[in-house]
Amino acid sequence: ERSSVVVVGAGPAGLTVGNILRAAGVDCVVLECESRTFIERRPRAGVIEEWAVRALDRRGLAARLLKHAERHTACEFRFAGERHRFGYTELTGHHHFVYPQPLLVTDLVREYADVRGGDIRFGVRDVRLHDLEGERPSVSYTCGDTGQRRVLHCEFVVGCDGARGVTREAIPAGRVRVARHDYGIGWLALLAQAPPSADRVLFGMHEEGFAGQMPRSPEVTRYYLQCPPGDDPEGWSHERVWTQLRRRLAAEGAAPLAEGELIEKRVLDMHDYVTEPMTYGRLFLAGDAAHLVAPIAAKGLNLALHDAFLLADALVAHAAGDSSGLEGYGEACLRRVWDYQEFSQWLSEVYHGASAGDPFRTGTTLARLRRLFTSRAAATAFAEQYLGAAEGY
Ligand code: FAD
Repeated sequence: ERSSVVVVGAGPAGLTVGNILRAAGVDCVVLECESRTFIERRPRAGVIEEWAVRALDRRGLAARLLKHAERHTACEFRFAGERHRFGYTELTGHHHFVYPQPLLVTDLVREYADVRGGDIRFGVRDVRLHDLEGERPSVSYTCGDTGQRRVLHCEFVVGCDGARGVTREAIPAGRVRVARHDYGIGWLALLAQAPPSADRVLFGMHEEGFAGQMPRSPEVTRYYLQCPPGDDPEGWSHERVWTQLRRRLAAEGAAPLAEGELIEKRVLDMHDYVTEPMTYGRLFLAGDAAHLVAPIAAKGLNLALHDAFLLADALVAHAAGDSSGLEGYGEACLRRVWDYQEFSQWLSEVYHGASAGDPFRTGTTLARLRRLFTSRAAATAFAEQYLGAAEGY
């Protein structure tokens, strides 16, 4: 079998690439190891930056999002028993969109497979990449239903298979450098079957650890609680979770938290990595397959979309005879990747400094926070980074 492009992984990155290629008439096949139902329900991100939504919209991929997403204009920091509203839209004129990742994935699959007639194969196993350095690479896989081994010959392989995928591993050691950062911190990631406790994102800085609240929909709300890395989620009973959330998000004049059943409880060990270069021969990595950013600043999905736009546009241009986009692809992505990594590190200190048990770090953390509310220049710089640079969009 032949196809110009084989995309491995049907997350936001892979599906966006697939949709753009399909609209431009470049043939491609998307391979996904899970089922359609599974990927349409997998809860994860929820914050999408305005520039990314505009870019999706220009490609006909944001109709439902624009209809149903919430627009957020402010977040709130809670520390020392007080609430501090931070209105980023007042400072920049830009806002955040909140739209659960499963809904975005559902929209992108529907558009790719059902509207644009794209080829997507679910439940594949044992994906392997071959001859990436030659002119004619190929991808082999086992069909989920028949158990048959298949080979797809192609011009390019796009690796969008996330943090635990196989495409990054296909790059020989010595041809790639993976820069890593470990925060030494865990977050208990929770989804509660409950309306949000406040109509904006809440960040609670507390000596017992960070706590956060991110609205997702009128019925479901995400919460985070800092915990030791590798902690057992089963040690976090319903009572313990809500007691800690109430304590760490407590502030004068705050409405009580809206409690609900915990429908997801996972411990994330906070770490980042960046793979450089993001390409090897005819393999192009995009999204979490190339770089992971801990969910501290809600940046991962946005970086995945940024890569996908650049890569798909470059592949379309290549088909029309212009290869410059493909040549500069990795470098163009990495500028935003490193920018967002740096911001996540900065923000991590704000979230976690006060609970490090070091009075010096507590002092500097509180100084950082206060600066956001006393200096317009500091506040504007923060707002720009929090919203993501609109440069080029
Ligand atoms: P993925 O979404 O991981 O997609 C990869 C796909 O490849 C998956 O469908 C997977 O099943 C498939 N796959 C894997 N291996 C194979 C294989 N061998 N063969 C075939 N298919 C394979 N980001 C934000 O911007 N904002 C947020 O608010 C935010 N919150 C988050 C909260 C949590 C709890 C987590 C875990 C992440 C969060 N993120 C957030 C990050 C965001 O979810 C990811 O960055 C995003 O999903 C990356 O998209 P992707 O397409 O690169 O990879």
